[in-house]
Amino acid sequence: MICFSDNTFQSIFCCCCSVQKRQVRTQVSLSNDEVHSEKYSPHRRPWFSRPSHKKQHSRGHVQPSTRKPLPPLPASALAQERIQVKALFDFQPREPCDLALQRAQEYLVLEKPDSHWWKARDHLGNEGLIPSNYVTENKYTNLEIYEWYHRNITRNQAEHLLRKEAKEGAFIVRDSRHLGSYTISVFIRARRSAEATIKHYQIKKNDTGQWYVAERHLFPSVPELVWYHQHNAAGLLTRLRHPVGLMGGCLPATAGFSYEKWEINPSELAFVKEIGSGQFGVVHLGEWRAQVSVAIKAISEGSMSEEDFIEEAKVMMKLSHPRLVQLYGVCTQQKPLYIVTEFLENGCLLNYLRERRGKLGKEMLLSVCQDVCEGMEYLERNCCIHRDLAARNCLVSSTCIVKISDFGMTRRFNVGGFYRRKNAF
Ligand code: ADP
Repeated sequence: MICFSDNTFQSIFCCCCSVQKRQVRTQVSLSNDEVHSEKYSPHRRPWFSRPSHKKQHSRGHVQPSTRKPLPPLPASALAQERIQVKALFDFQPREPCDLALQRAQEYLVLEKPDSHWWKARDHLGNEGLIPSNYVTENKYTNLEIYEWYHRNITRNQAEHLLRKEAKEGAFIVRDSRHLGSYTISVFIRARRSAEATIKHYQIKKNDTGQWYVAERHLFPSVPELVWYHQHNAAGLLTRLRHPVGLMGGCLPATAGFSYEKWEINPSELAFVKEIGSGQFGVVHLGEWRAQVSVAIKAISEGSMSEEDFIEEAKVMMKLSHPRLVQLYGVCTQQKPLYIVTEFLENGCLLNYLRERRGKLGKEMLLSVCQDVCEGMEYLERNCCIHRDLAARNCLVSSTCIVKISDFGMTRRFNVGGFYRRKNAF
């Protein structure tokens, strides 16, 4: 379900800019996955005792409270909700309620208590919670289930990956710059020379919806096309011999260490070294349970009110996206208070750009912009304005992905009275 509404809101885009008043047309998607997890508040009902059909009732905030509750969903709809997924990464349980994931294994999703943590069952019948960003729907048209598919990868990154592999016929499939089409990048070692080249073949779609690289060989889907060219060169310089995957590589951050577990026990944190200091205090590289690298922001006493701290943490808790710095949790039972987030190896974007002035190619600079746009688009979709977007408030990962940070100034905006409380979660 999609809602449109016209809203006026005030935003401060950077601390030195003037306040701007803008008229915006906002699109709010109300699909199950995208609506805030707020509706699954534990104060209402523990998720594990809630029958799936109650999800419909929890949409009460869009409907007058006097309305009769909706009837339960028919059995067929409930069955549809139980989607089959495939794990993209291994996941080690962190709490007794978690379920271990093994890369490439299949699981059945039983329930979605919020958009970030799902209840699933493995093939042995074990049940528990899994991070939703570690799995993808297991249907053959979903390219993410294939090892060879890389959604967010530039031509340069593809070449780098294939040269590292350095095998004749090593290949990946990536999104093309032309919207809705794909590119096969393949490593080719010329027969009589040591020189290797990378060829990039565009996968195109004809007027009848058939996919092809060489016009004589048409396929109803991209996976079928790739499978065919894995066995026949058919116009390519080599057949596609070795899929090169990132699956299982760099593990993405999860939304908190476990479902609704935001208070972190400080005794589980180890401080490794100081990595910076900001307006509110010192930031350390640390480890949680000697397993996960984290950034620990200690809030100096008097630099921020406890109320503002809680507000910043609350904003971050509800948000989870690959282009936002992920909050893992907070330590509020002691002084100084800590904010614990994912650690980004390349530090702040401002320094990253300054240190590489004139050396970064157009493609890298464009991918920085794209990362920031994707993060901001997610914030907008979730009714948040950052109000302090600047390079100093973005961080860069080890794989040069840029993520937006510093949500201290972020505010929710009210979409035509859709949310009951204004400017707050
Ligand atoms: P400010 O409060 O001034 O916005 P922060 O306290 O957020 O600054 O961060 C200060 C510095 O610490 C940053 O410029 C960055 O170099 C480093 N830093 C902060 N958070 C992280 C993180 N999650 N990963 C890596 N470095 C970080």
